[in-house]
Amino acid sequence: MSEWTEERIDSLRFMWSEGLSASEIATRLGGLTRNAVIGKVHRLKLHNRVGVAKEIQANTPQVKVAEVPKVAMAASIAKVVVRPAPRIASTAAPRLELPEMMGSVLKPVPLLKTLVDLNKDDCRWPVNGERAETRFCCHAVSQGSSYCEYHRLAAKGSGTVSERLAARELRRAA
Ligand SMILES: [Zn+2]
Repeated sequence: MSEWTEERIDSLRFMWSEGLSASEIATRLGGLTRNAVIGKVHRLKLHNRVGVAKEIQANTPQVKVAEVPKVAMAASIAKVVVRPAPRIASTAAPRLELPEMMGSVLKPVPLLKTLVDLNKDDCRWPVNGERAETRFCCHAVSQGSSYCEYHRLAAKGSGTVSERLAARELRRAA
């Protein structure tokens, strides 16, 4: 690293006044980086040359630039905070009451397991509860169905009020 001797400082002043760029000056003086020249120019207060202010600014850490994203982030956080929480309770509705008999099949007494406890042969008819707390019928499924015989008939629905309600009930549970 070269010293800033009086001679070199004079050369710097001269070249700077001649309009050479910092990197050109660094090359000619030798042993200096462009930033070292700019730093010296700054300390000598030579930076009243046209276009130099810009060059020096480019090499000075800009606090403002770093702060802009922070402000934007704070604004977006504020937005998130004021957003109302989803009203899960509002989706809850009374469960459908199915008839005691579906054709000739008696309504089963539900075993009320949650989804995670369901076996693959358990009837998936939702009896009560919402979302993860939904309880299912859980009686053995009828052949080729996801439901026990009673709920298979309820799900098949083709006309009666209870059957249409059953179809709606299943869509809601899906
Ligand atoms: Zn069932």
